[in-house]
Order: sequence, then C-alpha cells, then structure tokens
Amino acid sequence: MYDVNKIREDFPILTRKVYGKPLVYLDNGATTQKPHCVVDAMVDEYYNVNANVHRGVHFLSQKATDLHEASRETVRRFLNARSTNEILFTRGTTESINLLAFSFGEAFVKEGDELVVSEMEHHSDIVPWQMLCERKGAVLRVIPMTDEGLLRLDAFADLLNERTRIVCCTHVSNVLGTVNPVKDIIRLAHGHGVPVLIDGAQSTPHFSVDVQDLDCDFFAFSGHKVYGPTGVGVLYGKEEWLDRLPPYQGGGEMIKNVSFKKTTYNELPYKFEAGTPDYIATHALAKALDYVSSIGMANIYEHEQDLTRYALARMREVEGMRIFGPEEQHDAVISFLVGNIHHLDMGTLLDRLGIAVRTGHHCAEPLMHRLGIEGTVRASFGLYNTREEVDILVAGIQRVAQMFL
Ligand code: PMP
Repeated sequence: MYDVNKIREDFPILTRKVYGKPLVYLDNGATTQKPHCVVDAMVDEYYNVNANVHRGVHFLSQKATDLHEASRETVRRFLNARSTNEILFTRGTTESINLLAFSFGEAFVKEGDELVVSEMEHHSDIVPWQMLCERKGAVLRVIPMTDEGLLRLDAFADLLNERTRIVCCTHVSNVLGTVNPVKDIIRLAHGHGVPVLIDGAQSTPHFSVDVQDLDCDFFAFSGHKVYGPTGVGVLYGKEEWLDRLPPYQGGGEMIKNVSFKKTTYNELPYKFEAGTPDYIATHALAKALDYVSSIGMANIYEHEQDLTRYALARMREVEGMRIFGPEEQHDAVISFLVGNIHHLDMGTLLDRLGIAVRTGHHCAEPLMHRLGIEGTVRASFGLYNTREEVDILVAGIQRVAQMFL
C-alpha cells in the first residue's frame, strides 16, 4: 500500500507556504526535494566523520573512505552494474557526458567520423558532442522524431554506417515524457559495433534501471534528480570500454606514480576521479538511493503513472489545452500550452498560486525548433505528489486561462 501522506512527512519543505499558499511542487524534472535521511546523513558526516578520503591512515579518513566506497557499491546495486570499477562519481549528468565526450573523443574519434544524438536531447547531451565534432572535424547526425514525439527507429537504422563511432540518446525526454525504446536502439547500434550512451537523468528517478539488461555501454545520471544532493552524479561504463579510455582530468587520486618524465595512471574507477571527490554528497546519494529502493522503484513507478494518467485526463478538460508528447508513454512529465497564453505568463501566474512549474525551452532548443514553438509550461511529478495537487494545478490553469479570455 503506497502511503503518499506518510512519504510526504519525510520531506520538510513540502509543508512550507509560498505567498501564503501551500507549496505545490511540480518541478521535479529540474530537481527533487530531499528527505530527512539525506540531509541528516550530510550533517552527521560533517559533524562526526569529516576527513579527506583515500590517502589518510587515521581513523576519520578511513571511516570517510569506507562510507564513500560503500556508496559506490550502493550505486552499483541501484544500476545492477557488474562491478564498482564501472561506477565513476562525477558532478552530475552534464559532467558525466562531458567526461565521456572528451575521453572517448581522444581515443576513438577522428576527422570524418560520425556521432549520433536524437532530436529530443537535452543540451547536456548535444553540446559536448558538438564540441568534440569541432575539435576533431567529426559530424553530428540526428535521429529524427515523429510529430507525436517518438523517435523514428527506421531513420535511426539508416543513419548507422562504418563511420559511426557512438550513439547518445536520452532514456526519457525531459520535455515530452517519451520513454525511448533504448533497448532497440542499443541492439541496432551494437549490430554495427557502435557503443551507446544513455542519458538517464529523467529515468532513474521514476523506474528501475538495469544497465546489464539494457546492455548500454555508458549510462549517466544526476543525484539531485533522485532525491539526493546537488553536485554529485554518476557515469556508468562497461569495464572493457573504460579500460580503453584515457583520463579526463589530471591530479589527485587518478595517478599511480608521478615523475617529471612520465606519469602512470590509477586503476578503475579512480583513473577518472581527479581531485577530492564530494564524499559527503556520495554518501548522501547512497542514502537517497536506499530511500527510493526502500519504497520500491516499481511502487514509485505505479504511483507516478497513476498520477500522470489522472493529470493528463484532467488537463484535457481545459479549453485550448495543447499537450506535447505521445499519447501513451508519458513518464511523469507533462509539457503544455493553453490557447495563445505565453508559457512565461502561465508559469508566473501559477507561481502566485503556490504552484511551482517550469517554463521555457527546458534546455532542449532543437526540440523546440522541431515543434515550432518557443517554449512550454512543464509540470513534472515526484514520488510525493498527489491527485489533490493535480486538482490544484488544473484549477490554477483554468483560473489563468479565464484571465486571458
Ligand atoms: N539530461 C536530461 C534529460 C536532463 O533532464 C537534465 C537536467 N534537466 C540533464 C541532462 C542535465 O542534468 P544536470 O544539470 O544535473 O547535469
């Protein structure tokens, strides 16, 4: 039995008011709120354990190192990776993709090669690859989508050729809520011997991910979108790939021996982790992953699906409502416009009613160009949202719409 009211008690911020109105937080796609256990873990570690990890012989350093490395094991379990060697800590999805674009680019990309992204990517999964193309003289190819917001696998299959070096695709669109058929994409790419990166920023908070089952070569996600702290994220990579990639940044834990003649590099995963890691955040991320796992990703998925279906049905009652994304497969994200009301006006007026939504291009400008719009209003749900909050959202939208009649 999913007790959403009990779950809400774990999140102190949900009881606060904005402009005298109860907060209705529907901006979970941007970041999620934090449960007690996550914040408590950070405070406790700073107060009682704090010491730099890995190189210390003293008690606190060993304790902090144990917590940090235990967190790596928690992430491994969360993604069902084979080994903790395959779990790299980064600052977030964006840094994970930049790391890969740099290292993979150094090792495997040359002039005339092709890199594939999809039309619905977040800028974080476009720009690092464009920068790589500029450095190496490679070419960016784009998987198109249908008007409904589904990737065209037929066109994708046609894009793959002997020059293709990597395919990068989001698991779930942060604008449309589309859940992409990543298993098919991976199978098709592997048929050409091409590795695949999955951007899991919008899937990891909503349903369980098994990187071995997906058979993806790389997978990136952000801690702060899965109820964890800011400033920490993960790049998963198959060991056989990570072994062949050069380091991203130099210094700190990534070395084996340094001399002015030659430096040798550390083993996985440390080869990719230069400098002091945010070990407070990695520990708190593990707490967040334990938290969602204790509720059960399948239960979270069911709750959020119910909420999304309910919201879609209720929102369609509003005159002039235009919802973007496929009819089926909306994953806890609903982008919309009403009549010709500007998305910024809608967002600003909803805010005055205590409703937090996001407006604009959602860091997906090429997708906006494809849809022929400038931006949308986006409501995105988390494990603590309720049907009552959806009702407040719909009443708010209706109220704003009336003002523009
Ligand atoms: N990819 C997707 C699909 C996202 O939704 C986001 C965050 N909006 C990112 C990447 C970037 O995540 P971060 O800012 O945490 O690096």
